Amino acid sequence: MNFFNKTIVKLIPYVPKKVVRIFASKYIAGETLSDAIQVTAKLNEKGILATMDVLGEDISTKEEAERNRDECIEVIKAINKFDLDSNLSLKLTQLGLKINLDLCFQNLKSILEKAKLFNQFVRIDMEDSSCTDSTIQIFERARDYYPNCGIVLQAYLNRTLEDATRLIEKKANFRLCKGIYVEPETIAIKDKQGINRNFLKILKTMLATGCYVGIATHDEELVQGSYKLIEEFKLEKTSYEFQMLLGVRENLRASIVKNGHRLRVYVPFGKHWYKYSLRRFKENPQIAGYIFKSILFRD
Ligand SMILES: Cc1cc2nc3c(=O)[nH]c(=O)nc-3n(C[C@H](O)[C@H](O)[C@H](O)COP(=O)(O)OP(=O)(O)OC[C@H]3O[C@@H](n4cnc5c(N)ncnc54)[C@H](O)[C@@H]3O)c2cc1C
Repeated sequence: MNFFNKTIVKLIPYVPKKVVRIFASKYIAGETLSDAIQVTAKLNEKGILATMDVLGEDISTKEEAERNRDECIEVIKAINKFDLDSNLSLKLTQLGLKINLDLCFQNLKSILEKAKLFNQFVRIDMEDSSCTDSTIQIFERARDYYPNCGIVLQAYLNRTLEDATRLIEKKANFRLCKGIYVEPETIAIKDKQGINRNFLKILKTMLATGCYVGIATHDEELVQGSYKLIEEFKLEKTSYEFQMLLGVRENLRASIVKNGHRLRVYVPFGKHWYKYSLRRFKENPQIAGYIFKSILFRD
């Protein structure tokens, strides 16, 4: 499968952009905020929550970081204006994490100020392991300023149980996912069963202490494992949620909703969708394989 995925990734740049757009459109709401608003409103009609995410490019200047900040603020305003059941997800590198930590924090703070005004929640995504420490550091600073924000932790990292245990003491709001970046085996679990065991162990630790968790997975084994923990701790439906990516495993999504659980869909949008998709495919050829598979075998 690896060779197959890598071959697909190599071929994608030769496929006309219009064609790539056709298969990317299942996973991306569109190029504009108004596309994302429409997709979110349709999800809301089905009783599904959303988290909107402005796709961004690698940035290297303060101006680009500020433009991204302003786009995030526009999302917050739109959520309020159109009364959407959504929050905002963002990546700190888009706000300048790799340029200067203080610049990044100031940009985040401006976004949080707007979120505070409308009482909205903001989720800070987790990026590759070169960003883990600084992301946690900025999250902790942000949380002191505005508690209605949360962080993502990745079950494939060896360090995560320790990070979770420390953040649990502060009653952090988590999204737990497997992790999407290709990390070295010195710091990350590589086999699927090992990642799944760690995922459920961390999830149990989070849920046992009453932390709110967004359980972000399309893996049925993890969904079933989560159901068991939810039952074991007799959790209220409002104390956790499931999360899935737009366009992925919609049958599983429907069954989670039918079982009465809250479900939030990640709604990415923006004019950088093409470069973003190519970069994501290169970072992790498995994604290209997923897309190809899901076109051929719709579940
Ligand atoms: C809401 C949400 C937010 C996320 N935020 C982050 C983040 O901040 N940082 C981070 O590192 N990762 C993030 N991820 C990605 C996550 O880490 C996983 O890599 C990804 O979801 C695949 O893992 P899985 O649990 O679905 O299990 P897998 O075993 O990888 O997938 C189970 C099945 O789901 C399907 N599937 C999974 N992913 C896709 C896909 N992209 N396209 C098509 N089919 C797919 C496949 O059929 C696969 O067999 C997020 C995921 C979600 C759902």
